[in-house]
Amino acid sequence: MYVTTMTAIFLWIANQTCPASPPVNGKHVNASQDTRMVVLIDPGHGGSETGACSQVTHECEKKLTLELGLQLRSRLEARRIVRVEMTRTTDEHVPLYDRSAQAQKRRADLFVSIHVNASQSHRERGFETYLYPDMPRTIDSMGSLPPNPDSRAFAQWNVDRVAADLGRRGQRRCSVQFGDLVESGFRHALGRRFDRGLKEKELAVLAGLDVPGVLVEVGFADHPIEGRLLMDPAYRRRIVEVLARAIETWSKLGRQAGCLRSETPNHPAKPAPHRTEAEPQEELPNLPELPTHMTRKERAGLLTWRT
Ligand SMILES: [Zn+2]
Repeated sequence: MYVTTMTAIFLWIANQTCPASPPVNGKHVNASQDTRMVVLIDPGHGGSETGACSQVTHECEKKLTLELGLQLRSRLEARRIVRVEMTRTTDEHVPLYDRSAQAQKRRADLFVSIHVNASQSHRERGFETYLYPDMPRTIDSMGSLPPNPDSRAFAQWNVDRVAADLGRRGQRRCSVQFGDLVESGFRHALGRRFDRGLKEKELAVLAGLDVPGVLVEVGFADHPIEGRLLMDPAYRRRIVEVLARAIETWSKLGRQAGCLRSETPNHPAKPAPHRTEAEPQEELPNLPELPTHMTRKERAGLLTWRT
């Protein structure tokens, strides 16, 4: 009885100190052994920041991005190739600089911000991916004014600035490679003609990142066709699948290219060893025929909005 009780107590203590972690590729691992890439998914906007609201579906960007982000998390967690963190999982306001700061706090290797577009004309459609520019227009990449050029502080400032630029350049090269992967996935899944390209912009959400990151605009909520497609579960599954495959492929290519946090102690990244096309996998989920032309009614609706 005593032995049985002691065994039970020992097992109870063991369970408390070493909680069983979920299996990875069929094996149980604890957090320190888990070497999987960590992706931080950032559903754009939230709380009082609604983002663009569609006159087609009356849905706002903050809700669409959260739904897509949560779907992406479930899809990635089902295959357990990468570890997933989220900047938000509810309808809450998260400051922009906080989102990139979370990448460092959560030891993320990759940052993916999800957004939905809108245009003044309500006629634009397609997908695009943004990177932080190589040469931001701001006076220096450290975010501060240079000290007096004659001072010792200036010499240190210069050293720090060069180091920051080198770091950003290495990180940017990785962001370009990952952005290419996302774009090629979208071209394959949604059609080349809807590709608006890989672009650069000084976006605050990407400015403070210390790891590769992109902002993806998955479509235009206010376009009469695309707005409705973004509400279609099959279409959304396709978007999620593109992002999931790009992230999973990157967990391998990014590691080979020295782009993951643990692989980049101090030096800039090497080019990816292969073309950054998504690996062929099973077919994408079925998608109903994509409408490419507007009906007369939709065109009429478009005219109404413009007046
Ligand atoms: Zn947005």
